[in-house]
Amino acid sequence: MSYLSWFQDHGRKHAKIMAKLKHLSDAEVIAYFRFENMLKEESDFCPLYKESKKCHDLEALNCYLCACPNFRFDDKGFAKEEAQTLFSFCDIDSKDGARYLSEDAIHQDCSGCALPHHESYIHKHFKRDWFEIMQSVPAQPLL
Ligand code: SF4
Repeated sequence: MSYLSWFQDHGRKHAKIMAKLKHLSDAEVIAYFRFENMLKEESDFCPLYKESKKCHDLEALNCYLCACPNFRFDDKGFAKEEAQTLFSFCDIDSKDGARYLSEDAIHQDCSGCALPHHESYIHKHFKRDWFEIMQSVPAQPLL
């Protein structure tokens, strides 16, 4: 699956949930997206829910801002770094981020960074439209 198809698919699922939550306050919406509640109410939102597995080992894991507003991707590649193509990176160069390297590709590895899953961060960047928060994530604007 390309970055773009995942991104569009995930954003549509997010919007579908948000359409049901219009009666809730911002704080209630954020609480709804807590891992434990999402597992129960929105089992199709993330493939990991089926195994009751968290993507990060955080006690208070919130799924509202999966993926992350700081992630940047380009399925065509941003640049060549010798034999490898850079397909994604972290715009704030988080100290907890890393690079996943293969023979011909470089991808951002966010497995050590839980920034977008903290509720304080989500409150700070909250908008009801996930695509608006994530507008800088794809290299090309969505049509
Ligand atoms: S390393 Fe952290 S801040 Fe950077 S894109 Fe990944 S999750 Fe976001």
